[in-house]
Amino acid sequence: SSVDTDAPSSPGKGVENLVIIGSGPAGYTAAIYAARANLKPLVFEGYQVGGVPGGQLMTTTEVENFPGFPDGITGPDLMDRMRRQAERWGAELFQEDVEYIDVKNSPFTVKSSEREVQCHSIVYATGATAKRLRLPREDEFWSRGISACAICDGASPLFKGQVLAVVGGGDTATEEAIYLTKYARHVHLLVRRDQLRASKAMQDRFVVVDYRECFRVFNNPNITVHFNTETVDVVSNTKGQMSGILLRKLDTGEESVLEAKGLFYGIGHSPNSQLLEGQVELDSAGYVVVEEGTAKTSIEGVFAAGDVQDHEWRQAVTAAGSGCVAALSVERYLVRSN
Ligand code: FAD
Repeated sequence: SSVDTDAPSSPGKGVENLVIIGSGPAGYTAAIYAARANLKPLVFEGYQVGGVPGGQLMTTTEVENFPGFPDGITGPDLMDRMRRQAERWGAELFQEDVEYIDVKNSPFTVKSSEREVQCHSIVYATGATAKRLRLPREDEFWSRGISACAICDGASPLFKGQVLAVVGGGDTATEEAIYLTKYARHVHLLVRRDQLRASKAMQDRFVVVDYRECFRVFNNPNITVHFNTETVDVVSNTKGQMSGILLRKLDTGEESVLEAKGLFYGIGHSPNSQLLEGQVELDSAGYVVVEEGTAKTSIEGVFAAGDVQDHEWRQAVTAAGSGCVAALSVERYLVRSN
């Protein structure tokens, strides 16, 4: 790794202290802390998610579990507040996607279509993208029946007490199904293969913990597992509400409609780590590897926060927490290398 032993020190000579990439809870929290520490951070907010800054929460309605909002808050409102807080303390925001990063040479280089910036440190907070099935009516029912986050949406009035389904056969789907039984009347697990599968990256955890969970799935009277089952589309009632799921048996080709008010995707997430490929250590699933309990990546001066380095918790509050850790780590790093 390129340890920057004589990091050029003085900001304002064309080399920025800190570039933050991403505008989810991790990026904005890092921006708030760094701006308050007078680091004058630049933030590339990106526009990949829905063409607006703010990250994944821009695609949801109510957020009920972010501390400080006892009555809930909408995702866009929460993100707007974080953005304004970062701006208030002097973070400079660019609504641009970063297209290229060089962290092999010091100072680092960050390029968007509009500008090229040299910097001493980077907080990489580009998030993750929930994988989608791309069902024909997916966009129509996204957040109105289809969700990618059981923990976020399971308790919502839309789903409480209803029959729900989870698609996927790995540990994410299994965990989501178990979680949803707290609220749902019944949960169906829709599995393409003829058995449950654990991703290689999660295998250890699966063997130790999820094996039993999986056993519980089979023994849980509130979960029905459908093997060899392809999820074809969602169907609606005359009021335009989601009312069921069109399934196809892969062994017989037989199609049927399963009555369900919600469909949860448990088919995994893709971390948005492409720009760091070949430069910073990533795990086999593409998540940025950070030293445990820190935001430090394999390159000194490059820190990662939020979902791009977290395949486990993936919550707004944990992303924000790791953004804070990253910004405080940058502050220490810059002091040390000055
Ligand atoms: P993200 O929010 O994913 O933000 C990443 C940002 O990086 C985006 O702004 C993106 O545009 C930007 N970016 C990506 N690539 C680039 C690039 N090349 N250049 C510049 N910018 C880039 N969590 C909860 O705690 N409670 C909830 O109720 C909840 N509900 C959810 C509902 C839905 C539908 C979804 C999808 C997720 C939900 N989550 C919820 C999870 C939560 O949204 C995430 O854990 C959190 O947003 C992760 O924050 P982040 O900052 O790591 O990344």
